[in-house]
Amino acid sequence: MQSDSQINRPTITTNEVVRPTLVEVDLSRLADNYRAIQEKVAPALMMPVLKANAYGHGLVDVGHLMESLGADYIGVAVLEEGILLREQGIQTPILVLGGIFGNQVPFFLKYDLTITASSIEKLWQIEEISEQLDLKAKVHLKIDTGMERIGVHYYNAEELLEASVTCKHLDVEGIFSHFANSDAADLRHARLQIERFEEVLSFYEKHDLQPPRMRHMANSGAILQLPEANYDIVRPGLVLYGVYPSPESSRTIDVSPALSWKSRVVYFKVIKPGHPVGYGSTWETDHFVRAVTIPVGYGDGYFRAMSHKAQVVIRGKRYPVVGRISMDQIVVNIEWDSAYNDDEVLLIGEMDDESVTAEDLAEWAGTIPYEILTNINTRVPRVYVRS
Ligand SMILES: *Cc1c(COP(=O)(O)O)cnc(C)c1O
Repeated sequence: MQSDSQINRPTITTNEVVRPTLVEVDLSRLADNYRAIQEKVAPALMMPVLKANAYGHGLVDVGHLMESLGADYIGVAVLEEGILLREQGIQTPILVLGGIFGNQVPFFLKYDLTITASSIEKLWQIEEISEQLDLKAKVHLKIDTGMERIGVHYYNAEELLEASVTCKHLDVEGIFSHFANSDAADLRHARLQIERFEEVLSFYEKHDLQPPRMRHMANSGAILQLPEANYDIVRPGLVLYGVYPSPESSRTIDVSPALSWKSRVVYFKVIKPGHPVGYGSTWETDHFVRAVTIPVGYGDGYFRAMSHKAQVVIRGKRYPVVGRISMDQIVVNIEWDSAYNDDEVLLIGEMDDESVTAEDLAEWAGTIPYEILTNINTRVPRVYVRS
């Protein structure tokens, strides 16, 4: 945490000027999604995952909402996300799901954050530092059952479990694994991962020991498709925000998107044939068209890769973005329809019977909805509403 160089956090600091380009988060929908998942997985507990600025929805506000809904745990990816939640007064237990560095352990203890122990060396390190500070670290053991990212391989896990039982300065309250393919149509690999996790857990029964009270494995895909993987607590991410993790995964829970991305028309003009639009002059019209300019671009996370594919909704109708997407502006062809300065523009959201979804943007950008949502950056203000 200490460094000679300054840490620069590129956030807009004023609350006074709100850009017309903003993200609107519907807290009622988020709460409805939470309850729908909870109902489906009960009696399993809930660990909503709030990493990457709560999938773009705003870490602190979503954190407060989850606490008010009685979330049993909160999952984040990195230490700083946990510290921010604590500094904002969140008291719900928080598990940092990612790998840790030894010098971070005192911060976990200071902020009462739960540590992922992903190897036996790290387990000993946490034990040693906890002993020195005369504190008890909360730990969840991470087992790799088929992701090859972090965690002890399932076929080597016995040593870690044995060691964890002997650590006197640790509260080993959880053991978990993570799916690589739970949102797929073909669930064979996911089922193999469950079998491997079961094999690891059988250690406790074999040695007549109580397993940690929180065994967990289920992300969105598994919550939707593999109820046998609910165990004691589930870790919903994307589905909590109302988006399904893949086109193939079955939609066994009814959720709706909590996030809308909106802007307004900042400029109106008529474009003549022979006058191409934008950098590289990649698009031009062969007849007179009306066009509007919208103050959003790849500098906000509206990916340039969507150029010549993206559409927006104005006055309840979809129109194409033309020319290349710039850093801060896009141009929309409305043909011979009407639109006026200040008219609302939907980049993601619903208007009348028309909608644009994070899945649509993902398709245009050649990526997944996760990346679309987590890339709407801090220049875009978040506004919270209750429908
Ligand atoms: C991100 C993450 C989740 C949530 O995944 P979704 O697919 O968004 O539900 C759960 N567990 C871990 C370990 C994660 O990193």
